Amino acid sequence: MIYNTLLYYCYSPIANAEQFAADHLAFCKSLGLVGRIIVAEEGLNGTVSGTKEASDLYMAQIKADERFAKTDFKIDEVAEPSFIKMHCRYKAEIVHSGLRDTGIINPNEKTGKYLEPTEFSEMLNRDDVVVLDVRSNYEHNLGKFKNAVTLDIENFRDFPDQIEALAKYKDKKVMTYCTGGIKCEKASALLLHHGFTDVYQLHGGIIKYGKEAGGKDFEGKCYVFDNRIAVDVNSVNPTIVSVCYNCGKTTPKMINCANPECNEHITQCDECGENLQGCCSVECTTHPRKRPYDGTGYYVKVPQQVAKV
Ligand SMILES: [Zn+2]
Ligand SMILES: [Zn+2]
Repeated sequence: MIYNTLLYYCYSPIANAEQFAADHLAFCKSLGLVGRIIVAEEGLNGTVSGTKEASDLYMAQIKADERFAKTDFKIDEVAEPSFIKMHCRYKAEIVHSGLRDTGIINPNEKTGKYLEPTEFSEMLNRDDVVVLDVRSNYEHNLGKFKNAVTLDIENFRDFPDQIEALAKYKDKKVMTYCTGGIKCEKASALLLHHGFTDVYQLHGGIIKYGKEAGGKDFEGKCYVFDNRIAVDVNSVNPTIVSVCYNCGKTTPKMINCANPECNEHITQCDECGENLQGCCSVECTTHPRKRPYDGTGYYVKVPQQVAKV
């Protein structure tokens, strides 16, 4: 059986977003979809998986809603659904920037100019551009565009604090990119707000770039927020850029530390994975709740057990 995994977002005002989230969850469940969707007053952001039929129905329904008609779905064929359960949650923002209440950015009003994948690919090697990866450490450590500027951040909410350090690029064409495009809508808007004048964003992110530009000049793999952890995007000139956290050997493999309290995202080679049983350090191997290592380094989050009275 072939399944589809859909990655998408749409910045579009939603009234009664909390109610919308509850109704939308029920709708997704009725289609048998699994995945994770975030709903906020500013729009929706999701990754869902299901049969081709279910995902087609889902896309048709979203597109039929005039608020979300412009949604751009990135569709991947997968051998099994990329999630275990279906979650649809209301949050303050669909990508947490911490800027909601400041009102200084609104991607619907002002954001970087879209570059389609082939346009981005053409501009990538020019001298007057700066390619800016707006993702976090665990993402760009696994893969990034050649010559991209990366940021030492653990979460996108730390992006606003980086603007000052980026001021030296103010006179360049700044091309931002992220996984699916959603972070760039805010990141590029914020750069414009801070006086950068020539700001572009990769429309549809790395995922769409892989499909439409063959992933050319993307080094390594792309981190994704589902069971797949990492996907290949470059079919033109692929390389591996990530190195094992423990021994420094080149490896594309990304794991979570088997110590549930550590759970650190690291790249780790198979050999170190065996030696440390999926842990980031010897210390973590001794944790009493260390999870068994099955070679993948991926652990499904199990809800905390509720004590029975
Ligand atoms: Zn190693
Ligand atoms: Zn650890």
